[in-house]
Amino acid sequence: MPKGTKTKLKKKFTKKDLLEFKKIILKKKEEILDHIRHISENNLRKSQKELSGDISGYTYHMADVATDTYDREFSLGLASNEREILYELDEALRKIEEGTFGICESCKSVITKIRLKAVPYARFCVKCQRDKERT
Ligand SMILES: [Zn+2]
Repeated sequence: MPKGTKTKLKKKFTKKDLLEFKKIILKKKEEILDHIRHISENNLRKSQKELSGDISGYTYHMADVATDTYDREFSLGLASNEREILYELDEALRKIEEGTFGICESCKSVITKIRLKAVPYARFCVKCQRDKERT
């Protein structure tokens, strides 16, 4: 590596870094999915009692039923926050594949590792995040 470029270079993360972030993201995802499963099971048990007379009306529209159940499970027990994080985690994984992971969506600078380790799905660097929260 040529001397002097080290500090100026807005270097993307190494493969090793990305692999590490991927692990963190997948682990977080697993945790949330576990939690969702847990909540869903609880809701299922509840709703089976509550809704036992209510199901027949839906049977003709299987797609609707699926969406409906899905929404119900989420809206009943799962904080929308968690659902959002799940989405963000998937986005982060996509970005790793694309090679755009860890780049601030606003100013295009590289987000610090420390921040990404705490919030692996961060879209913005600390500065831009602060700017956004202020407005
Ligand atoms: Zn930024």
